[in-house]
Amino acid sequence: MSAVDAPRAGEPLLTVSGLSVSYGPSPGARGRGTRVLSGVDLTVRAGEIVGIIGETGSGKTTLARAAVGLVRPEPGAALRFAGHDLVRMRGAELREFRRSGALQYMFQDPLRSQDPELTVRAVVAEPLAAARRGDRRERAARADEALRLVGLDPAAHGERTPGELSGGQRQRVSLARALVTRPRLLITDEPASALDASNRNLVLGLLARLRAELGLAVAVVSHDLGSLAGLADRVAVLYRGRLVEDGPAAEVLEAPRHPYAALLAASAPRVGATGGPRPAQLRPAADREPWPEGLGCVFAPRCRFAGPACEREPEPAPAAGSAPGPAHTVACHHAADWRAEVAA
Ligand code: SF4
Repeated sequence: MSAVDAPRAGEPLLTVSGLSVSYGPSPGARGRGTRVLSGVDLTVRAGEIVGIIGETGSGKTTLARAAVGLVRPEPGAALRFAGHDLVRMRGAELREFRRSGALQYMFQDPLRSQDPELTVRAVVAEPLAAARRGDRRERAARADEALRLVGLDPAAHGERTPGELSGGQRQRVSLARALVTRPRLLITDEPASALDASNRNLVLGLLARLRAELGLAVAVVSHDLGSLAGLADRVAVLYRGRLVEDGPAAEVLEAPRHPYAALLAASAPRVGATGGPRPAQLRPAADREPWPEGLGCVFAPRCRFAGPACEREPEPAPAAGSAPGPAHTVACHHAADWRAEVAA
């Protein structure tokens, strides 16, 4: 039996519940850590592309890193991947899971994650070498297969070094490196944000093709909601460490339910967009002073629709409304009212 038996398409593959992360001193130690994620729940289903969206400081990269074990969650979090308990896994089970390469993370900056002394083929084969999978020839063959998957010719590029490639080619090498273990889920952090428009489209198009051809599930971390239009099935929006909206991508883009998601959607012009509120309709007339952590809704200082309750009570836990269709949750006291106000 494989170390990781993936569920069927559409069934939960990665499930994150109650994920909180603090940096700095741990709770109970002298001094306070900085809370960067608070009680986040997220599910990625087999074969699905999920966008994780938010501005700098929203906690989106921390969420991605916690999911692959690069960041330690606070006690109480649950992370499960294809039946494996990622928080409690130890010993032989953990080693076998890591060897499988079923869950892969693609770093944001290819230059920092690729050894400049190695050939491209060796860079791509590194995860197999680290897991002691196959002999040198088998690893080289798998690396060449992965390079072809991302549209690079092994004969032309395999013996070059990363420094001899363009930025777009280096990003595709990073993608090939993540794919060489034939993962079930790829988590990728801003895969296209440093690229020009044509390479950006190429890389995002590749992710769509890999999902279609390999059934690969992908979680894409991005600050740009518009870039995920037509790519993501679902979008999860984070604001200052809280999940504020999670729903089908087309709905979040065209009919967002949280004022912050609406602001992101309105600020991301897209071909074929059919309207929705304009940024000026969503911004408060005057900036409010930020108030202490834990008092009121986290978005209230920037929210045009904040009422007295929003300044006293934390935002509610994300919840689905009564609308039929796929689950779409929002963490806002006035999810229905503010949209009616804008539409009036
Ligand atoms: S709960 Fe209130 S302050 Fe927070 S987003 Fe909704 S309307 Fe705005």
